[in-house]
Amino acid sequence: MKADIHPEYSNTTIKCACGNVMEIGSTKSNIRIEICSKCHPFFTGKQKLIDTSGRIERFRKKYAKFQK
Ligand SMILES: [Zn+2]
Repeated sequence: MKADIHPEYSNTTIKCACGNVMEIGSTKSNIRIEICSKCHPFFTGKQKLIDTSGRIERFRKKYAKFQK
């Protein structure tokens, strides 16, 4: 390797929103992510439904009368 042309490569930690911390080698430091292999539904096998606006709840209320 030539000197002084490469970015500094060192160990850094990646912090996920779920609390999982991974250590990798990178030129960046203190990386923050929102989803990782520990909490992604694909890897956990759990279906995670994100219903932020309550649309599903409104749908259920609207069609509850047909269930009787
Ligand atoms: Zn995660």
